[in-house]
Amino acid sequence: MARPIQAQVDLEALKNNLNVVRRAAPESRVWSVIKANAYGHGLERVWSALRDSDGLAMLNIEEAMLVRERGWKGPLLMLEGFFCAEDLFFFSEYRLTAVVHSDWQINILQNTCFPGSLDIYVKMNSGMNRLGFRPGDVYTVWQKLRSMKNVGEMTLMTHFADADKPDGITSAMACIEQASNGLDCPRSFSNSAAILWHPKAHYDWVRPGIILYGASPTGKWQDIANTGLKPVMTLRSEIIAVQTLKAGDTVGYGSRYCATAEQRIGIVAAGYADGYPRHANTGTPISVDGVRTRTLGTVSMDMLAVDLDPVPHAVVGSYVELWGKEVKIDEVAFAVGTIGYELMCALAPRVPVMSV
Ligand code: PLP
Repeated sequence: MARPIQAQVDLEALKNNLNVVRRAAPESRVWSVIKANAYGHGLERVWSALRDSDGLAMLNIEEAMLVRERGWKGPLLMLEGFFCAEDLFFFSEYRLTAVVHSDWQINILQNTCFPGSLDIYVKMNSGMNRLGFRPGDVYTVWQKLRSMKNVGEMTLMTHFADADKPDGITSAMACIEQASNGLDCPRSFSNSAAILWHPKAHYDWVRPGIILYGASPTGKWQDIANTGLKPVMTLRSEIIAVQTLKAGDTVGYGSRYCATAEQRIGIVAAGYADGYPRHANTGTPISVDGVRTRTLGTVSMDMLAVDLDPVPHAVVGSYVELWGKEVKIDEVAFAVGTIGYELMCALAPRVPVMSV
């Protein structure tokens, strides 16, 4: 019998979440962001549930080749663009749209002869200070690229640093106004947070990532509670041992939980080598047989302990949901001081994944 841990990926939930995006940004076309192995969900498994997207956005040429080879004919956006001249031949062959964010990429474009022309997204730095041209330089960069024979359609893009805050895009929008003055072009500015909370920034193409997978861009699940988004990934396992503690007994490495009275605990086949966070110490929400309870003590490499007081009927073999529909991934992330993005992407390769 196999170790009972498993990640389930709900493809209907993914389709539902794409429809939520459509309703939130009805005038925009949608780049579904499937980088990082579709945020840990498995690109091969999930991309076809996103077939109704207008385009797919990613980072690696391998990811682009995979979806092309599986039959995706629509647009593909490479979010960090190309890295060297050779990449441009792949971009041309696989019809990839490239983000252009730096002068060194313009130099490569200028000095490389490849078949056809490249559609590009000119990235403006609106305050994130990672990639992109400064607003004051965008006009000149734009004109330079526009004059190049191997450049096809051009779109202006930015990536907001603070779209999860109510007034978080005001200064970025001012930069955009400054930069795009006089440019009549398609625009793509909005990530998940801007799609949900800044409709003025939607424009021609939106780029949802985390909300497609049913988690919150802010890290707090309450912020998306009324949006209709559904969790896509469920990490589940089972209780593989039950212990009855006496007052004074401790649990796990470092003896960090100590029972104050007789208490039943369950040992779950899930640990940090599966991608469950090691810092989910005593008190992190978890569900056993559909009842919410809490972790106890330190998470080990392959196991963790749960409080069975709220679930007296639980036995070896009882179903455990580490995150999913009963316990949101955002709740677990919040308990360990991170966000759902990180937990999804950190799911370990040893965990079998199944579509449902
Ligand atoms: N657009 C770009 C350029 C990104 O880098 C990302 C992800 O980091 C996204 C869109 C999607 O962001 P989110 O998952 O917050 O929707």
